[in-house]
Amino acid sequence: MNQLLVKENSHLLVSRAMHPQNTQVNIKGCIVGGEKTVVVAGPCAIESEELLKETAFKVRAAGASILRGGAYKPRTSPYSFQGHGEEGLKILARVGQEMNMPVVTELMDSQDIELVVDYTDVLQVGARNMYNYSLLKKLGRLDKPVLLKRGISATIEEWLLAAEYILAGGNHQVIMCERGLRSAEPWTRNTLDLSGVALVKEISHLPVMVDPSHGTGVRSLVNPMARAALAAGADGIMVEVHPHPEKAFSDGPQSLTPKGFSQLMRELDPIARACGRRVK
Ligand code: PEP
Ligand code: MN
Repeated sequence: MNQLLVKENSHLLVSRAMHPQNTQVNIKGCIVGGEKTVVVAGPCAIESEELLKETAFKVRAAGASILRGGAYKPRTSPYSFQGHGEEGLKILARVGQEMNMPVVTELMDSQDIELVVDYTDVLQVGARNMYNYSLLKKLGRLDKPVLLKRGISATIEEWLLAAEYILAGGNHQVIMCERGLRSAEPWTRNTLDLSGVALVKEISHLPVMVDPSHGTGVRSLVNPMARAALAAGADGIMVEVHPHPEKAFSDGPQSLTPKGFSQLMRELDPIARACGRRVK
């Protein structure tokens, strides 16, 4: 481990040296960074109210605490589905309320901040925006939890310093989220950096989540990597679930079915217990 990194950052707000106890982020009573390992689940994108409702109902029944769904999708191709925008946000807020589940959604453009903030309980900064410092500064001025994804090839230091931008503005409700790094490996979408999870937990007091869906891009790898994430000390996981992955507008190949998600929850339970935590 690079000791210099820890030393040089010891004065930072994200550093454990500055704040030895674990930070707990309270999302409408759901505590991230506490005893319970928090599971966020839902589709990649909000496609329709009906589909989101069905997904939310099933993931909640299986034990998910927070519902995810994208209204603004950062797609590689401009011709791919870009998300339903404000209409999607309205659907997410309605379904979250109906199911009594807090919701998380990605904010792509700082111009949309005032709009998105009213519809969501957690603002997600996507991997492509981790370096968007003007966006991070604006999030620092809010009183709203932020889920900060690690950049596509960001170092731990860059990721922690991105979080520092938000804390420096006065908003200490930051959840880090490892979602895999671009590597030379073509069989997976990204390479999930679980040593980075343990390292961030060591250096920082902020809670860390893991997204094994984007972290692998492969459905069959989601469960093993989610289990490994818990064993590595993750405070939560975020997984994509779709009732009909083969028909999903985005990220079908990495989406679990609701049945697969129930299986995942069963697999996570003994691992959480072995780590002195619980998933439900
Ligand atoms: C997502 O979670 O919907 C997403 C686009 O993830 P990432 O920013 O990690 O690619
Ligand atoms: Mn996705």
